[in-house]
Amino acid sequence: MVTKKLNQLLNEQIKHELDSAYLYLSMASYCESINLKGFASWMKSQSKEEYEHAMKFYSFLHDRGADVDLLPIDKPPVKFKSINAVFEQALSNEQKVTGLIHNLYKTALEEEDYPAQVMLHWFIEEQVEEENMVTEILDQLKLGGDQGAALLLMDRKLAERE
Ligand code: MG
Repeated sequence: MVTKKLNQLLNEQIKHELDSAYLYLSMASYCESINLKGFASWMKSQSKEEYEHAMKFYSFLHDRGADVDLLPIDKPPVKFKSINAVFEQALSNEQKVTGLIHNLYKTALEEEDYPAQVMLHWFIEEQVEEENMVTEILDQLKLGGDQGAALLLMDRKLAERE
């Protein structure tokens, strides 16, 4: 049985993952609006992944016979200052999510919920990957790729993501 406290945190996590999906979609829309189609496509893939994260928590709760209580999701920003600012915000959002996942794991340990601990292992690893991927792009942008030919080259590279 999932304890009340963990059940509530897992429902909140569904919301956080959907917030992330919505944030990445809004970033995709910004990239689309400045004709960076490769960046937009990368952001749309990222948004879909976040939706899948939310669905993993949703399925986990149903598999355990726990309650799914869908909370309202946040409105993401419409405008961004620059492509750099987009990735700065993506990184800080991923860092926030990492903290939330770690807190979930801590609670799963305290509540002695072993299935939740196992399920969260995947998310702990996933967050390392997410932060790493966003940091790599941000570092490359900072190295001078945020304008001109370098930015277009990067746009082409990001378009390759499935
Ligand atoms: Mg996620």
